[in-house]
Amino acid sequence: MINVTKSYLGKKTKFLGYVDSIYASGWLTNQGPLVAELEERLRDYLGVRNIILTNNGTLALQIAYRALNLAGSAITTPFSFVATTSSLKWEGIRPIFADIDEASWNLDPSAIEARIDTDTQAIVATHVFGNACDVEGIAQIAERHRLKVIYDGAHAFSVRYKDRSVLNWGDISTLSFHATKLFHTIEGGAIVTNDDALAARIRLLCNFGIVDTDIIDGIGINAKLNEFAAAMGLCILDDIALILEQREEIARRYETQLGDHFDLQQQQHHSQRNHSYFPIALASESQLLRCRAALNAQGINPRRYFYPSLDTLGYLQPQSPQTRSRALSRRVLCLPIYPGLPRHVQNTVIQTLLMENAGRSEPITERFWPQVNTAGWMDDRLPLPDPESKRIC
Ligand SMILES: *Cc1c(COP(=O)(O)O)cnc(C)c1O
Repeated sequence: MINVTKSYLGKKTKFLGYVDSIYASGWLTNQGPLVAELEERLRDYLGVRNIILTNNGTLALQIAYRALNLAGSAITTPFSFVATTSSLKWEGIRPIFADIDEASWNLDPSAIEARIDTDTQAIVATHVFGNACDVEGIAQIAERHRLKVIYDGAHAFSVRYKDRSVLNWGDISTLSFHATKLFHTIEGGAIVTNDDALAARIRLLCNFGIVDTDIIDGIGINAKLNEFAAAMGLCILDDIALILEQREEIARRYETQLGDHFDLQQQQHHSQRNHSYFPIALASESQLLRCRAALNAQGINPRRYFYPSLDTLGYLQPQSPQTRSRALSRRVLCLPIYPGLPRHVQNTVIQTLLMENAGRSEPITERFWPQVNTAGWMDDRLPLPDPESKRIC
């Protein structure tokens, strides 16, 4: 089965070298040398002031809310992974949904203000699929209403806005380093902030509130990353340029072949994406189900990120429906994209979608791909773009 993603593992010998060093030192966790090294390298690579590693991205969100002393309610997006909302609820903060922008698929700043009331303390927005939010629009609203801003940046590793990491926006941004993410530490995450005092507080929260052996300052939790996880991160960070380049290459092909047939997410101005996902919006849910079934029949497993729209979650108090998010969530399918995705598989994905879209039942392989030689596409390094390849249609 070809899945929507495949965890990048880096070089095994390199990872085993780190494992040897862990065995030699006996230091497995609790701010070990590999976590310290990864933190420093990520701070440099991302271009952020403070980054605190955590053991997953959900706890990173929860700690962000705690560090900012949030209570009451927060305006958030209904079109995201469930953790964006569940983390709020888990921390006793009421998620209040505002609708998304139909083009960017991110929280729509112009929909936020109508949802603000005296209880509102924060805006929690997601850079969905690595597309930067309208961070300036959100900053203006937050300033006007004195709200905190937290970005769920789980998809935004190495995403830039106006030539800086988009993670520099808001009071806090969080990352997920789960195995399915573009950059990962098997399980892991991070909290980013420009505020040094806030960063110090976050470090305490991540380690039970322990200041030193004899002093505990406030309630904390265990959000520490371990050394084996950090070792994985160090290996993958070495290859990050290649990972991004291969994703870009795959995304460009999808865009070229599918862009005229399906709705694509519109990129935020002045931003650079990371192609951590390749979502398309089908004409309708029934078409989505047909396309998914056709792909499944070819051994390809695209995923419905994000369905259902989070304003339908059964454990929340009913709110007014977010119609744009609900409509979009029924139409979006994420296609396989990862370094080393065999090109002939990508061709199959494209052909199957075009066929299904055109209501055809015959394979169109030969007709549309006469020039594609699939030999060698299994190499872990994708070949350069085929200069001969033509647009379909
Ligand atoms: C993956 C993800 C998370 C959760 O991260 P974990 O590391 O799996 O806990 C949160 N928000 C979004 C948008 C995600 O995609």
